[in-house]
Amino acid sequence: MTQTTGASRVVTRQAIGGEISRLISGHPNSALAVMMVELRRANRLQALTGGISAEVVMEHAMARLDRVLRDVDRMAKLSNETVCLVLPNLGDGAQSVLAAVRVLSTLQKPFAVAGVSQEDTVSIRPHLGIALYPEGARDAEQLLIKADVAARIASSSESGYHIYRTEDRVETEIYRGLDIELSKAIKSNQLKLHYQPQIETESGACHTVEALLRWDAPGSSPVSPSVLVGLAENTGLLPALTTWTLHCALRENAELRRQGIDVSVAVNLSPRTLADSEFPDEVAQALAVWNVAPQSLLFEITEGSMIGDVERSLRLLTRLRDLGVKLAIDDFGTGYSSLAYLKRFPVHELKIDKMFVQAMRLSRGDAQIVRSVIDLAHNFDLRAVSEGVEDEATFNQLRDLGSDAVQGFLFSEARAAPEFAAWWRAHEARGRTLPS
Ligand code: C2E
Ligand code: CA
Ligand code: CA
Repeated sequence: MTQTTGASRVVTRQAIGGEISRLISGHPNSALAVMMVELRRANRLQALTGGISAEVVMEHAMARLDRVLRDVDRMAKLSNETVCLVLPNLGDGAQSVLAAVRVLSTLQKPFAVAGVSQEDTVSIRPHLGIALYPEGARDAEQLLIKADVAARIASSSESGYHIYRTEDRVETEIYRGLDIELSKAIKSNQLKLHYQPQIETESGACHTVEALLRWDAPGSSPVSPSVLVGLAENTGLLPALTTWTLHCALRENAELRRQGIDVSVAVNLSPRTLADSEFPDEVAQALAVWNVAPQSLLFEITEGSMIGDVERSLRLLTRLRDLGVKLAIDDFGTGYSSLAYLKRFPVHELKIDKMFVQAMRLSRGDAQIVRSVIDLAHNFDLRAVSEGVEDEATFNQLRDLGSDAVQGFLFSEARAAPEFAAWWRAHEARGRTLPS
């Protein structure tokens, strides 16, 4: 990996304010964005990766940013975990959202750091705050403060970014351009689902696949699914996206079955879908259209779905369960759900987040968490499924702990339906053993 960062765009922490003022006075009539990018969890990674410092991670991140920025953009490192970007001469605010998406996707790809083995590539969860000139603030100092405030809000948002705004009218303006991009993508089949197998630990069989969204926007780097879902939530496109996903998953599931590949499909739901009282009817209809049995469909919901209007979510989940559809709690252990909900929610499965699974080999604490979640699942008569399994040692450990199924790159990454079908046949042909 090259680490040469275009020296001309990098300015010091002390000089960034002056640079913003200079850019504004040079082009007072065009939009400018100040972006505060935070590399979350760099410290935790330091512990996991045996001494890769936040500073080294920052160096790599800046080299990547350098490749996605335009010549006119500026960048300043404020600390080992914060970098400030200045994007002048924007056509409109929507461009800053596209830039934010590009920045997040480029930083979300794992970093291969010298001295760290292949298995231990470093991943970070970046988030960023944006302040826009002239809507958000008109001088450098205020722009920097507001971008910082926005970054704090972004750290707890699904999409990973937040734009500082004083009124909603501005938000509508900003998202207008993006609305069109995303809705075009939904209509013109730029979106795809890829399928990742779940392996039963005892038999080695694959009875379920998880459907994961992919968006290869033409001319730019792929947008990560979590960013994409965040965008849809912010632009009112979530219902259209959910409908597209549901129908695509069921259509391709019916096709796999026609080829003799008898697998259920797990579809991820945004917490917001649980507030849509028409959703269960839509599911029933989609099952009928593609002639798929409800038992072959599973929804994965995150713990976040259980905060907010719990009673409303509960009613909706119960209606889904009554249809015969199965439910899993995703990323279990990362959120705030209380055990009391487990008793009340009609779920079938707990999915243990890859964060714990991957830390398990190195930390006894994380191994204890995994063990407890598996035991908890079994005490409630639920299946325990572990995700992010990348090596055989972790697989063996999970099998010994009683995880019912596992999912991860050790077996297969997510693949388009035809490639998944080929993987499935090969897996059956070699007696459901590990690929050699
Ligand atoms: P998730 O539901 O926790 O999905 C698992 C993620 O872990 C996927 O990332 C998958 O590719 C990745 N993964 C699987 N095995 C391994 C492994 O062995 N090692 C590592 N390092 N990663 C592994 P992906 O596809 O980028 O999806 C990210 C998130 O985006 C998903 O997390 C899910 O929350 C969201 N998402 C994806 N598709 C949809 C969708 O259709 N609807 C909604 N609402 N959310 C979606
Ligand atoms: Ca999932
Ligand atoms: Ca997860």
